[in-house]
Amino acid sequence: MAQQQHEHTTTVVEQGRFCLARCTCGWRGPARRARSKARSDAEDHTSTA
Ligand SMILES: [Zn+2]
Repeated sequence: MAQQQHEHTTTVVEQGRFCLARCTCGWRGPARRARSKARSDAEDHTSTA
């Protein structure tokens, strides 16, 4: 399957003391204490979606 990066634009947002990844498709990653973890969640999402 080809990646559809144009439909999966992720951003990392801060929510209180946590960071989480969000995607334009509506997906949300779990809340992480480390921004780097949230970013790897986002990368995982875009590579598997
Ligand atoms: Zn997505």
